[in-house]
Amino acid sequence: MKMILALMVLVQLVWGCSNLRERADDPDFSKTTAQFLEKYWEAHPRHASEAGLHQYDSVLEIPNQKNREHKLTFYKQQLQIFENVDPDPLSISQRTDLALICNQLQKRIWQIETFRSHQWKLDDYNLAEEVSVLLNRHKRPLANRLKDLSEKLKNSPEYFQEIKNNISRPTREQVNLAIKQSRGALSFIRGHLRTEIKKSSIKGEELKKLNQRVAATEQATRRYITYLKGLLTSPKAVGGFRDFRIKPELYAQKFEYDLQIDSTPKELYKKALVAKEETRSKMFEAAIELYPKYFGSKLPPKDRQEVIEDVLKKVSIEHPKADNFVDTVRKQIPELTAFIKEKDLLTLDESRPLIIRETPVYQRGFAGASVDSPGLFDPQGDTFYNVTPLDDMSGKQQESYLREYNNYTLQILNIHEALPGHYVQMIYRNKSKSVVKSIFGNNPMTEGWAVYTERMMLEEGYGNNSMELWLMYYKWFLRVVTNTILDYEIHNKNLSRAEAMKLMTKGAFQEQAEAEGKWHRATVSQVQLTSYFAGFAEIYSLREEMKEKKGDRFNLKEFHETFLSFGSSPIREIRKLM
Ligand code: ZN
Ligand code: ZN
Repeated sequence: MKMILALMVLVQLVWGCSNLRERADDPDFSKTTAQFLEKYWEAHPRHASEAGLHQYDSVLEIPNQKNREHKLTFYKQQLQIFENVDPDPLSISQRTDLALICNQLQKRIWQIETFRSHQWKLDDYNLAEEVSVLLNRHKRPLANRLKDLSEKLKNSPEYFQEIKNNISRPTREQVNLAIKQSRGALSFIRGHLRTEIKKSSIKGEELKKLNQRVAATEQATRRYITYLKGLLTSPKAVGGFRDFRIKPELYAQKFEYDLQIDSTPKELYKKALVAKEETRSKMFEAAIELYPKYFGSKLPPKDRQEVIEDVLKKVSIEHPKADNFVDTVRKQIPELTAFIKEKDLLTLDESRPLIIRETPVYQRGFAGASVDSPGLFDPQGDTFYNVTPLDDMSGKQQESYLREYNNYTLQILNIHEALPGHYVQMIYRNKSKSVVKSIFGNNPMTEGWAVYTERMMLEEGYGNNSMELWLMYYKWFLRVVTNTILDYEIHNKNLSRAEAMKLMTKGAFQEQAEAEGKWHRATVSQVQLTSYFAGFAEIYSLREEMKEKKGDRFNLKEFHETFLSFGSSPIREIRKLM
């Protein structure tokens, strides 16, 4: 089907639809999509709540066999409808929507029938997310949200029972993760949820019912934790543990569904190996140039590895103080805005400012920074740049964290998360007003764009070509490249933990703690870690090809704006359309 679709689009282009860009949306296709979405929300209540719709806020999806069969029938029916859509009268935006919908449906059928993630990927079940999605929507009155929650939690004991029925040969890593996540859910319920209930106007019988259901949910969660801990000592009850490595065949399939890029896993892996060597060489060049600045007349070590390590250590000391971490970020954002305008890199929508704030306490799962954009159906909502202050860390942790997010890497982080990375991309995406692109957006496109902007900004001279900034940028980029190598080698080449640690700490100059965290993440995910480099590589080579083709007529701003105008579509679709 994918081949046929690709061919159809190609034929369209060969026929020379010169007015394709101006073509209006086809009303029939809009109707088909709207009908699909209506049924989709009904079958995926949590996704509906996350998108900012409220009609399914009180529904907890029970993950049983009947539910899966119902979904499979729905996916297959819809796939048949969309595979038979004639792309001829569709607008550009609709064509990419069509590709995204078909991909989603195929992927979900594959997840149930082949990947069977319900049996072993326990992080797909996360009660804390079910609860927090309602609590985080502050625009609705608290009492209404809690009433919905009360309804939703009514079935939580059954929810956990069905999860237990589903579990078959899980991975040990997933069981450990599920224990951790369930403990997080418990503390969220006991802390934040209980506080909210006290604050609310709910009274009498309704309050009694809510409290009972919350208590029952707590109890069911505790039992689930006990059950999972039991599995760690006697996994026989669920057929033993499976290897967390999904092996080449499943990996290649997941790679195709998740990334939708032109390369095969092996091709991407090879690209990453080349990029690794190139990046390490660049780091050495920068480090050797900086060496006298930091070490005076001392002779540099013979070993290249040591030269880079020594200089990285010195440059990392230049970092903000713990108590003005958030302020440092706040000051950097206007500098980025000014630079983008001065170089005319793309048009910024000044009517939608980014609000920089400390991450709200209930959202502080881990330190860091991220963009929190309004729900899809809340177009007037604010966009926040959440930066987590370092209050909860010990002095030693703060120091290590600040060296990682030093004066240089912090700027790269801000480019990636905010300008012109994720925040700018989201604004462009929302302009396309496509619900489909918003909810089924392509990961390599969004992450690849953010990674691409880091390189592009530095190439354009951001930071006055500071050698320190370049060195730290390359370290950052090497992490992206190494994520791809790590993920591929773990699932396809049986990479051991010791080898992985060496790959990260020696090969990519990562701190021990960072590498350990990444190893853990790599054992509970598949393919996701490759999406950053995959996207970057495709976008960068697309740009270079366009440059070559257009010669003097190539305009960077035009390239950026055209690229972003297709929303979060797969890059290979964007490539065809450009
Ligand atoms: Zn320090
Ligand atoms: Zn990102």
